[in-house]
Amino acid sequence: MFKALVVEKDADGKTHAGVQEMSLDQLPEAEVTVSVEYSTVNYKDGLCIGPGGGLVRNYPHVPGIDFAGTVAASSDARYKPGDKVVLTGWRVGEAHWGGYAQKARVRADWLVPLPEGLTTRQAMAVGTAGFTAMLAVMALEDHGIKAGPVLVTGAAGGVGSVATAILANLGYKVAAVTGRPETEDYLRSLGATQIVPRAELNETTKRPLEGETWGGCVDAVGGAMLARVLGQMEYGASVAAVGLAGGAVLPATVIPFLLRGVNLLGIDSVMQPYDNRLRAWARIARDLPMDKLEAMVQPATLADLPQLGADILKGQIKGRVVVDVNA
Ligand code: NDP
Repeated sequence: MFKALVVEKDADGKTHAGVQEMSLDQLPEAEVTVSVEYSTVNYKDGLCIGPGGGLVRNYPHVPGIDFAGTVAASSDARYKPGDKVVLTGWRVGEAHWGGYAQKARVRADWLVPLPEGLTTRQAMAVGTAGFTAMLAVMALEDHGIKAGPVLVTGAAGGVGSVATAILANLGYKVAAVTGRPETEDYLRSLGATQIVPRAELNETTKRPLEGETWGGCVDAVGGAMLARVLGQMEYGASVAAVGLAGGAVLPATVIPFLLRGVNLLGIDSVMQPYDNRLRAWARIARDLPMDKLEAMVQPATLADLPQLGADILKGQIKGRVVVDVNA
């Protein structure tokens, strides 16, 4: 028997999450059984622990969109018992039971070997949010980062914290946008050189173009803030759009694209091919300072997850939550 956080839906459509004991034969069919060590709390997990918002495809459900652990059994030649592995994406924790359990059973194609130089705990301190932050930085690099500071929105959150630390470590000036002034010391400790109050960028303007200010942007917020930021990018600069914590509707004009050659790059961490995942994890091990990563971590247990899921949807989590599923 092992423990898992299970979300159930009652006859009225209300969902309830709690820690339960379950057995291996309850796990979905797939090639690789993993003894999970750590998982994390991402924005999507908040949605899946709660009412689901259309993300959860089957109840009862074990959420947890990422995990790291040790292979316990495998019918696929690529993995053998004892191998350390990491999983992000592939709709695990949404359409397929995920990492909020001491055991998980998943497709071999969805796993990558634990990146060299990282422990399973460090890999999950990074987790989906940090992996996505790295994909965003790589996309900006591919399109060329201009001279001005790189703007990071939602900076005190998971994606924003990791993006700030990676960009600062690569030598870029980072301007961190936050709605929580109390996180200023934290963001500066990650390497931000400028703090931009969220309210400054949430104000709408009738001007489609403003001064050319930002050399690049990692945007976790979307909505009206992204629309405003597009008009402040340097000529030919790029915005890597990662998330929608501030809204899905983009009230923008085409002017920044037409007159400033701004690039809007969509980042999707879920369906990344194997080689890209390996490349991004190798860059994380190389470019993310582990002491800064540690400063982002808040530890948690399976029992803490219902509360933490609600907190992340309210934008109240700072940095990354690492769930020790065996604690
Ligand atoms: P977090 O909740 O940890 O961070 C989001 C941050 O956004 C908050 O901490 C807050 O930062 C800011 N924020 C929250 N609400 C608002 C608002 N109404 N207006 C402006 N800013 C706001 O989430 P994650 O970092 O894990 O994820 C961020 C986004 O990225 C989510 O939408 C998530 O779904 C998405 N995502 C996408 C992925 C992909 O593959 N494309 C993968 C992973 C995440 P502060 O307090 O500093 O202002």
